[in-house]
Amino acid sequence: MRGVFIGPPGSGKGTQASLLRERLQLVTIGTGDILRDAVHHGTAVGLKAKPFMENGQLVPDVIVNELVAERLRQPGAPRDFILDGYPRNVAQARALDSLLSELGLPLQAVVVFKIDDALVIRRLLARQRTDDQEETVRKRLAAYHETTEELVAYYRTRNLVHWIDAAAPIEHVYVRVASLLLPKDV
Ligand code: AMP
Repeated sequence: MRGVFIGPPGSGKGTQASLLRERLQLVTIGTGDILRDAVHHGTAVGLKAKPFMENGQLVPDVIVNELVAERLRQPGAPRDFILDGYPRNVAQARALDSLLSELGLPLQAVVVFKIDDALVIRRLLARQRTDDQEETVRKRLAAYHETTEELVAYYRTRNLVHWIDAAAPIEHVYVRVASLLLPKDV
């Protein structure tokens, strides 16, 4: 199964990705995690990405597209995976499409985590990561809404989109996500 998770920061998509990794050994690729790691280690990519991340802005498409392409092209790269937080806009979705068609690995599901902004803000302020100050959170949410509608519309034309209620308890969300991703005949 190859899937994409779309959801605002604080919607719990990272938590669901971790659960799928632990319980079903699914490979998950989170661009936010990869970028934070790059910033932490002070790599060239990290240095470029840092100011954008600190401002709650998207990192330029070329940088994230290249990060994902590197992961999926390397020898022994997984054929099944969940992309968490990528693509974030239609330009990235097109880059992903051309990468996946080059690799012969079409996408099978796009899971959209639906949740109110007010709940997201409460969750994120409780989480207190350094990039989670209220103003940054609001900027990230605004950026999310600005690009997501178009992104979801892009995937809807291909009948790939499933909506889930991300305000539900973690285990309820998990059951729903796993049922969308697992083959129906198992
Ligand atoms: P996340 O952990 O997914 O919320 O990502 C944290 C930050 O990393 C975002 O606010 C962006 O600055 C950056 N980022 C993560 N994924 C992407 C992406 N696909 N495109 C652009 N920027 C990204």
